Amino acid sequence: MSIAAPTQTTVRNYVNGQWQPAASAEHREIINPATNEVLGQVPLSSAAEVDAAVRSAAAAFPEWRRTPAEDRIQYLFKLKNLLEENLEELARTITLENGKTVGEAKGELRRAIENVEVACGIPTMMQGRMLEDVARGIDETMIRQPLGVVAAITPFNFPLMIPFWFLPYAIACGNTFVLKPSERVPLSSVRMFEIMEALHLPPGIINLVNGGKEAVDALLDHPTVRAISFVGSTPVARYIYARGAQAGKRLQCQGGAKNHVIVLPDADMQQATNIISDSAFGCAGQRCLAVSVAITVGEAQKTFRDAIAENAASLRVGFGLDSGVQMGPVITKDSKTRIESLIAKGAGEGAKVLVDGRNPRVTKYESGNFVRPTVLDGVRQDSSLADTEIFGPVLSLVPANDIDEALAFLERSPYGNQASLFTSSGAAARKFRYEAPAGNIGINIGVAAPMAYFAFSGWKESFFGTVHAQGNDAIEFYTDKKIVIERWAREHSRKF
Ligand code: NAD
Repeated sequence: MSIAAPTQTTVRNYVNGQWQPAASAEHREIINPATNEVLGQVPLSSAAEVDAAVRSAAAAFPEWRRTPAEDRIQYLFKLKNLLEENLEELARTITLENGKTVGEAKGELRRAIENVEVACGIPTMMQGRMLEDVARGIDETMIRQPLGVVAAITPFNFPLMIPFWFLPYAIACGNTFVLKPSERVPLSSVRMFEIMEALHLPPGIINLVNGGKEAVDALLDHPTVRAISFVGSTPVARYIYARGAQAGKRLQCQGGAKNHVIVLPDADMQQATNIISDSAFGCAGQRCLAVSVAITVGEAQKTFRDAIAENAASLRVGFGLDSGVQMGPVITKDSKTRIESLIAKGAGEGAKVLVDGRNPRVTKYESGNFVRPTVLDGVRQDSSLADTEIFGPVLSLVPANDIDEALAFLERSPYGNQASLFTSSGAAARKFRYEAPAGNIGINIGVAAPMAYFAFSGWKESFFGTVHAQGNDAIEFYTDKKIVIERWAREHSRKF
């Protein structure tokens, strides 16, 4: 099968049901991280272009809002089929610009499809509530209504799954939508929007604006945009939360992570090793739920350390479209430099580089941004590396005497996206579930990614807001509650 070629050299925006070349003269290169070849150019759209997209979404809203929910979801049933039919091509496009293996890209698309499926339940999920006789003859009703124009700003690491945490729910609830994808991976969204043209949605319901900070700021400040969903790094999440709030918007901002796994000596060590390896090194460690620190308790310090070192050293690294490749490159040359310097910093702080993935030679892809799986042993709990998000294939091993000491370490972490425990003890599992300070918990699970019908949680500096993405939280986010209290005179009704 041929590699999915980008359809345009310079990607365009999709506004009001039409493809439009961006007017901005400023562009960035879109790069294949496995080769550093240029795949195309992405425009950094201006505030005026964002305004055009928001206006088109605002114009489409009144009629879309009046379209029955049952009719709105018919588009989503079609969308699910389109995603299934184009899964192979979309996965290859993700691999080309993001670097993850094509198997991982297909896994990502499955999660995108799952969100479309759940949003098909809007006619049930969006229902309000009603109680008769809140006082004699008075009835009270809560109705959910769409907000209007909503937007999402998304990161590079899941080019299509993350937009689909938002798009299906937003439009199924009757809102109109503007997506600003990561400027590092725009091809996946562009191809997705090209595919979605076959839905024949009315113009303006879904819009795509490529760009960077100027486009983001224009969305944050635009008076017509009612709500913004953001996923990305913590400093940007914090910025968006503050600036958007100042403009009076509803916000949900998912930030960075530093995820811990505790390995108890009674865990099934072989199973734990395989699962934790996939979590730490899958997608080159560029998942927001990637395990980054393994806290090993008691005898697990030796047994797990030996097993994970052997596993890490054996993984096959390369271009994600080549068969048999288990791990791809990291996103940019800068990321590779940053990750390798953090490994050096860890060593400088006293950790032993048990498996060293720096500067590997990957045959045929010598200029790619490759870092092989790396294991750092004996990382001190008080070292700066223990708290820094590396976002690369690096697993730090931290020793602890017991589960309480391990949990105290988690407590000090600024992040709270995910925490996992490997054990065969129900009592230890319950204690962990009860006490672990993170929003997504795994018990003998390495990537505790909630299914689409549960909220994708996240605590501390991994999330700014109140309601999360996916499931019922998405309905909360994308609707306003209206309360109606009614009294009807009995005399009046007798006339009929
Ligand atoms: P990023 O913060 O650099 O970029 C995310 C988005 O913000 C992009 O669309 C980008 O154009 C925009 N942006 C970047 N800098 C900006 C600025 N100064 N002002 C306004 N907008 C700006 O994130 P990334 O590198 O693309 O993604 C990786 C990060 O995302 C990691 O920290 C990872 O943990 C996090 N992430 C979190 C979750 C989660 O669920 N919590 C999920 C995926 C990724």
